Amino acid sequence: MLEIKDVSKIYGRNSTSVVALNSVSFQVDSGDFVAIMGPSGSGKSTLLNIIGGLDVLSKGAIVLNGERIDNLEEDALVKFRRGKIGYVFQQYHLLQSLTALENVLLPLTFGGGKPDHGKALELLRRVGLEKRASHKPSQLSGGEQQRVAIARALVNDPLLTLADEPTGNMDHKTGKEILDLFDELNREGRSIIMVTHNPEAAERAKGIVFLQDGQIVNTVRK
Ligand code: ADP
Ligand code: MG
Repeated sequence: MLEIKDVSKIYGRNSTSVVALNSVSFQVDSGDFVAIMGPSGSGKSTLLNIIGGLDVLSKGAIVLNGERIDNLEEDALVKFRRGKIGYVFQQYHLLQSLTALENVLLPLTFGGGKPDHGKALELLRRVGLEKRASHKPSQLSGGEQQRVAIARALVNDPLLTLADEPTGNMDHKTGKEILDLFDELNREGRSIIMVTHNPEAAERAKGIVFLQDGQIVNTVRK
C-alpha cells in the first residue's frame, strides 16, 4: 500500500545542515501495524511528517497505492492530508475551547462538509467516551484527551493512521489502554504507523523499523 523509497531529508544547508534521514526504504501493507523506534533525534518524527505531508523530503519518493504523494501541489496535498491521513500526536493537539464532540467534528467541517454528529458520536463511543462528548479537553484526563484525538483522526476514514509517540505523555497503565485501542483498531483493519519508545507498542506491531542517525539499522517482521 505504502512504499517509502530511498527517502532522505536534509535540513538547512552547508556547514549547518543536518541529515535527518539518509536513504530510508520500507513498505507498509494494507492493514499493517508498523512501529518506528530509535533514539531521540534519529529521524522518527521527520519520517512520519514526510509520510503525512507535513514536511517535504529532500530525495526519494513516497508512493501510496501506486501514486506518488511526495510531490503534490498545495491543493492536492491539503486534500490528501484531509482524506487519507489520520494524525495522532503526543500532545493531543485538541482545541481547548471546543468540546470533545466538536474536536472530533473539526476535520469534517474543515473539509467544507456537513458536520456529521452521528458519526462523531459513534467514534466517541468507539473510543469509550460517549458520556464525555460535551466535555472540554481541560475536563478530561490525558488518556481521555488522547482518545478524543484518536476519534478525530478517524473521522475522515483515513487510509493510514500516523501516531507520533501517542503514549509518550502517559503513565504506564493509561499508555497500555491507548495501545490496546490502537491494537483493536488495527484488528478492525486500519493501517497504522506508530513512532514509539514503548517496547509494549513494538510488541503489538506487525513490523518494527529501527532508526539511528537517520538510517534504518534493523527491520523486524513478525
Ligand atoms: P526524533 O523524532 O527521532 O527524535 P526528529 O525527526 O525530530 O527526531 O529529528 C531528527 C534530526 O533532525 C535531529 O537531529 C533534529 O535536530 C533535526 N531536525 C528536526 N527538525 C528540524 C528542523 N526543522 N530544522 C533543522 N533540524 C531539524
Ligand atoms: Mg520525535
